[in-house]
Order: sequence, then structure tokens, then C-alpha cells
Amino acid sequence: MEYKIGVISGDGIGPEIVTEAKKVLDAVGEIYGISFHYTEILMGGISIDKTGRPLTEEAVAGARASDAVLMGSIGGNTAASPWYQLPPDLRPEAGLLALRKALNLFANLRPALLYPQLKAACPLRDEIIGDGFDMIIVRELTGGLYFGERKTREMNGLITATDTLTYNEEEIRRIAKRAFDVARKRRKKVTSVDKANVLDSSRLWRKIVEEVAEEYPDVICQHMLVDNAAMQLVKDPGQFDVILTENMFGDILSDEASMVTGSIGMLASASLNETKFGLYEPSGGSAPDIAGKGIANPIATVLSAAMMLRFSFDQDLAAGAIEAAVARTLEEGYRTADIMPKLSEKTRGIRQVGTSEMGDRICQRLV
Ligand code: NAD
Repeated sequence: MEYKIGVISGDGIGPEIVTEAKKVLDAVGEIYGISFHYTEILMGGISIDKTGRPLTEEAVAGARASDAVLMGSIGGNTAASPWYQLPPDLRPEAGLLALRKALNLFANLRPALLYPQLKAACPLRDEIIGDGFDMIIVRELTGGLYFGERKTREMNGLITATDTLTYNEEEIRRIAKRAFDVARKRRKKVTSVDKANVLDSSRLWRKIVEEVAEEYPDVICQHMLVDNAAMQLVKDPGQFDVILTENMFGDILSDEASMVTGSIGMLASASLNETKFGLYEPSGGSAPDIAGKGIANPIATVLSAAMMLRFSFDQDLAAGAIEAAVARTLEEGYRTADIMPKLSEKTRGIRQVGTSEMGDRICQRLV
């Protein structure tokens, strides 16, 4: 098989971590008979420097012509970089928002996986962590409160602000289907999170999710109120497989879930549209504080590439091979600086490596 991958290396640590992800993709491709053709796409600060804009038409066309896009990160030091003297719509992040919109990326997938080897980084107690946890949050990304009508006006002599939370049944159905499809590739359980005891939009959400669930009899579907979900994430995270939720609830819960895993350098993400197309990127930013030092953790980007194999290309075996190789590399004690245990917790056999060596070690452990 052959795939065209658009590559947005971006700014800061972006090029360093993307290099490692491509290295791992090529290595897994050799084992599984898959070829990847990469096309570099300019976006973010580097695009501003070269074209004066964070995203050009040519870049959008490049992304559209690809089977999927792999991204590093964009943006600079927001206090010091000249990019942040520009108007908001010309700053690096505007490029990413515009690209998501242009490609209609309505489904955001963020796994929160705690490797048993990195338990020490998890802020939860040992008895709560158990053997680690492995969930994925499927968040609706283009509707709801963040995109509803809003206004601020004077009413009865008081300044009054209004935001509206709107979902139509089609928007709910397409994200719910995504979540059930994802669950089919995992442990086959969807927890749909809403606030159906209060909100009309949540009652419609629940009704449509139940309709979709009927099309997936092999997947367990349960509903949970968002306040309870926030508690359960820190009380018993192991109970979750796929969490399906709307935009704002997902924004909050995915940050909560990622925090309990410990390191930002480990967290992959994907944004998908109605086709198999997706944009895959680490959850972290461009880390200007460590850019160019060769110490960034490439694992989130490598795992994002594994998500690309699974969700855009249906290459589940190759995706699983990458994930297993990452686990094995950690098992053998290799760590980048961000996931090194504190001195007091250091155990024999743990060794600090740089960005490139981490990529090499993962490649060597692919089977
Ligand atoms: P950040 O995620 O870049 O960095 C926060 C901290 O995490 C830093 O100490 C950094 O060194 C560390 N970190 C992040 N990724 C790491 C990795 N792979 N390995 C080791 N350590 C890592 O967040 P920030 O400093 O708030 O933002 C920096 C820039 O990134 C800003 O311009 C911001 O707008 C941008 N940003 C971009 C994206 C994106 O491209 N999707 C996402 C978030 C932030």
C-alpha cells in the first residue's frame, strides 16, 4: 500500500519530533509493506516568515491532496516572538484554526493512556491507578457553545452577555458514529457524557446517541452526566474506554484526562472529518524553551503517527506495532528528559536519551 502524507513540521520542536515520527513510519512501513510519500506543507510561524501568512491557499490545497496530515507543532514564544506583534488572524495559531475549518475536522480524538512504566508521573494514588488506564476522548470540535450565537448588550440597565449552545441531530449523529467506530477498534465501550438533566441540547444528544448505539449492538453504550464524569476520571479512570462528548465538555474533560497521565510529551491527538482524512499531532505545543536542544520527547508525535495508521489508513497491525515498540522502549528504561523520574525515584536501568536516540530505539523495537 502507498499513502500520501502531508507534513507540517512547523515551529520550535516541531521539525525535531516530526523527523522521528517519519523515521518510525518508514521503519514500520518496511516491515508491513507500506510506502509513505511525504510532502512538506508550510504553516504557522515558518509560513509567516516565508509568505507573510500563517496558512496559504497552496498549503490548504497540499493538505487536501494528502491522504492524511502529520503535524509537529506551531507557534513561538508568545512573549518574545515577533509573530505575536501581528494581528490575531495573522499569528501562527490562526493557521491551525483556519486549516481545521477548511478541512471540516469535526471530531477530535485524544487518547489518555498511562503506561505502567510511567506511573510515577501520575498524580493519582497507586490503588486508583491500578495497572494504568487507557481511554480516548472523542470530542465534537466544530459546534456547541464555542460556535453558537453570542452577544453582549444592556438589558434592564445591566450589561448582559449571552452564549448559545446549539447542536442539530446530524452534528450529533456524525460524531457519535465516529465514537462507536473508534470503540470497535478498542474495548467496545462508549460512555456518552452530557448534562441531560438540565440542557435541551444534551437531551437531544442522548436521544441521537441511543439511536446510533442501536446500529452498533457489539458496543456497550452508557450515559454519564458531565459533573459525575469529571469525578470518575480521577476516582476510577480505568472504567473508561471511549468517552464521547460535545465541544465544551470535551475541552475540559480531555485536559483533565491528559493531566492524570503525567507528561504532555506522551499525548497524541487526531482531528478527523467525515471521510478517512485526519490531521494528527501531539497535544503539546512548540516548546520554544527546549527547541533546537535535541531533548524534546518525540513519543506523542510517534503515537500520533500510529493513530494515523489506525484511523485514516486502517493499518491496525502496523499501528499496534508502533504502540508496542513505544511500550517496550519505556520498559527497557529509555526516557527523554521530560519523563525522567526525579533523582530520588531513579531506579537502576533508567537511562536518559535525546530526541533522535528515542526515535532510533523505538525503530529497533518494531516487530
Ligand atoms: P508547550 O506545550 O509548547 O510547552 C509547555 C511545556 O511542556 C514546556 O515546558 C515544554 O518544554 C514542555 N513540552 C511540550 N512538548 C514537549 C515535548 N514533546 N517534549 C518535552 N517537553 C515538552 O506550551 P506553551 O509553552 O504554552 O506554548 C508554546 C507555543 O506552542 C505557543 O506559541 C502556543 O501557542 C503553541 N501551541 C501550539 C499547539 C499546536 O501546534 N497544536 C498547541 C499548544 C500550544
